Amino acid sequence: MKLKDVLAAKGSRVVTVSAKSSVADAIRTMHAQKVGAVLVPDAEACPVGIFTERDVVRLLADGERDLERLAVESRMTCSIVIGRLAMSVDEALGLMTERRFRHLPVIEEGKLLGLVSIGDLVKISLEETAQEAQALRAYIQS
Ligand code: AMP
Repeated sequence: MKLKDVLAAKGSRVVTVSAKSSVADAIRTMHAQKVGAVLVPDAEACPVGIFTERDVVRLLADGERDLERLAVESRMTCSIVIGRLAMSVDEALGLMTERRFRHLPVIEEGKLLGLVSIGDLVKISLEETAQEAQALRAYIQS
């Protein structure tokens, strides 16, 4: 299965916040939308940034406390790794495991088409494995 199929099933909804939003607003958005990451499409010199739960942990560990005044753009990751529609689920899982992040924005020709999480991909991978096992069992018994 390819990321194209994953997005066709999951949809292209991506939760975004603006670069000048406060970290507090981004956290409230993540909580309200039940997601672990938001994309930031409009920061200066950064076509798309990403801000995740892990960034919140890091900034708190750094001693940041005034989250209403702290802008998301000062704490997001700017140089993002992206997925492509033709990328397989296994390739994407390998990339996320190797680079140690759990979110992969899918971008083609500069256009943001969706975002897949490691949870989305592990679920599909487990379903595929179960289907293969079922097909093998049916084959052996036939
Ligand atoms: P995550 O495991 O996705 O919560 O993210 C761990 C760290 O990697 C955070 O600092 C994120 O901002 C960053 N990050 C998440 N996804 C990506 C990505 N696709 N490309 C680059 N950095 C990312």
